[in-house]
Amino acid sequence: MYPSLEINLSKVKHNTKVIVDKCRDAGLEVYGVTKVFCAIEEVAKVMLEAGVTGLADSRVSNIKKLSNLDTKKILLRIPMQSEVKSVIENADLSFNSELSTIKLLNDEAKKSGVIHDILLMIDLGDLREGIFFESNFMDTIDAIMEMDHINLKGVGSNLTCYGGIIPYPDSLQPLIDIKNEVLKKHDFEIEIISAGNSSSIHLIDKNELQSEFNNLRLGESLVLGYETAFGERIENTYNDAFLLKTEIVELQDKPSYPIGVIGRDAFGNVPVIEDKGMMKRAILGIGKQDVNSDNLIARDKTIEIIGGSSDHLIIDVTNSEVDYKVGDIMEFELTYGSLLNLATSDYVYKKIIK
Ligand SMILES: *Cc1c(COP(=O)(O)O)cnc(C)c1O
Repeated sequence: MYPSLEINLSKVKHNTKVIVDKCRDAGLEVYGVTKVFCAIEEVAKVMLEAGVTGLADSRVSNIKKLSNLDTKKILLRIPMQSEVKSVIENADLSFNSELSTIKLLNDEAKKSGVIHDILLMIDLGDLREGIFFESNFMDTIDAIMEMDHINLKGVGSNLTCYGGIIPYPDSLQPLIDIKNEVLKKHDFEIEIISAGNSSSIHLIDKNELQSEFNNLRLGESLVLGYETAFGERIENTYNDAFLLKTEIVELQDKPSYPIGVIGRDAFGNVPVIEDKGMMKRAILGIGKQDVNSDNLIARDKTIEIIGGSSDHLIIDVTNSEVDYKVGDIMEFELTYGSLLNLATSDYVYKKIIK
């Protein structure tokens, strides 16, 4: 069945093992981040087998899908106040930055008779989530220490997501300072200091990460084999554990330049199209409803994606050495963005390969 997102479990497991071992040698445990593949249970399971110590996702609905797996579940996105009940029910640890929400979590945990662990996010300058590191964060921490059903399990930060800030030892240092200040003021040792996501891996390779850090949350590096500070491939990993396979539904010789007066395309944009004369054009049975074609990497390097619409992807195959036929399958490697789209689309068949 096509289009299909083909997921090679042994490659995911291999990638995870290579990276988890590297992190363990540097004193870091790894939470496997499942959001980019919508927490498909089989994939999360091989991550666990390869040594991650917990499974982390930004959505409670994804965490629920993992309920059969016996491991710690971590909610990465700051909880919505409307979902605190289900956070307490489904997550063992949640990332937080708003005192009013933490209070609601405390109330809910009390009702359920449990202690809920939180990791306090500190914004070190990437300007996504977290209490700004130059603000009065100790007020929030003091208030948390008063709560009976909340345990301040960790502090952490997230870089290279909104602002594109690359983690370096200097920018991460405030997290260590905060841990030390809490120890001094409250005689309380924060257990986890989390150094970030796949963009922090370059620091391990350079042996630059401070030894106080003991945790990373990794998604993209495990599934696609890339570190994300510089976009480099990680040694001894696969970048094709996830592949898109799509079927050719039309293959015809046509002009490259549209005939008639050009108005707007299906998305309201005025097309800019180069006249390259006659072309051999393939149409694939996949479209923008499933994936943004800018994020697809054709395995056949001699073909070119020239555009598409909601349900069609148009490819110039004029220069290909492959003698394509209608019904043939074309393969694409994926980026984070295209994997996210394809995993989320109900119209894309998910094929798991052991
Ligand atoms: C998505 C996410 C991660 C994982 O990021 P990758 O770049 O995929 O490794 C880690 N932490 C948080 C808070 C996230 O939202």
